[in-house]
Amino acid sequence: MSAVADQLRVALVTGASRGIGAAIAARLASDHFVVGTATSDAGAAAISELLGENGTGMVMRVDDEDSVASLYATLAQQDRAPLVLVNNAGITRDNLLMRMKPEEWGAVIDTNLTGLYRVVKPALRAMMKARWGRIVNLSSVVARMGNPGQSNYVASKAGIEGFTRSLALEIASRGITVNAVAPGFIETDMTAELTPEQVELMLARVPLGAMGTVADVAAAVAFLAGEGAGYITGETLQVNGGLHMS
Ligand code: NAP
Repeated sequence: MSAVADQLRVALVTGASRGIGAAIAARLASDHFVVGTATSDAGAAAISELLGENGTGMVMRVDDEDSVASLYATLAQQDRAPLVLVNNAGITRDNLLMRMKPEEWGAVIDTNLTGLYRVVKPALRAMMKARWGRIVNLSSVVARMGNPGQSNYVASKAGIEGFTRSLALEIASRGITVNAVAPGFIETDMTAELTPEQVELMLARVPLGAMGTVADVAAAVAFLAGEGAGYITGETLQVNGGLHMS
């Protein structure tokens, strides 16, 4: 680590190899030392290359407790306990509930929701000691709207918003804020699977008339991770072009 990077707060961003996570990692790297995670060595190497001297890529699976423990052990050895944590890693396994296999239900809940439990818990001690911390969790607009074919994903994201409020109450007195960002319809690999007809139908419902970009979401996360958001906790910030207002 360079002398300058040494003085920066450490931000851990899960799922930083592509899409929204990569944009968040790049954005936070302007004033943090960013540890971005991927599920493969190649993904981790790409993150290191993207971040240069203000960050590094590491392998970690949020659905594997040993993998999470190993990441935190490495960070502790390097004296890089994160005071900013962005829980971005997430998956979809869409199906109508009538056809949904137990594996499709289980994978989404285990990765998106139980993964949050696995990653957040070990981060708290250092934040409490510092009496400062920022936790930002990626939800989705569908947590409040619902979405046919996504009962597993929507349940996981609604769970993330409830988790966010409860943890915010538990640790507010320690100077740690816990918030969520709920993106709407954002251009990434996740939405690239949609047909042109599905995209057209969705866009007709977005008052701002366009898909959001990963930079739009990264800006909201950076705000909640910064000093300026110190009096905001337990909130979910919607980044959806007006698709849903709550
Ligand atoms: P994406 O392009 O599909 O990328 C997913 C990221 O999560 C990748 O970095 C992936 O790593 C990582 N990941 C997947 N499974 C993992 C696991 N078991 N352990 C650790 N990391 C894992 O996703 P995205 O579209 O950028 O979405 C990012 C977040 O925003 C998700 O939580 C998603 O639910 C939410 N969101 C997205 C949209 C949208 O329109 N795209 C809308 C609302 C909410 P690898 O590259 O190594 O596989």
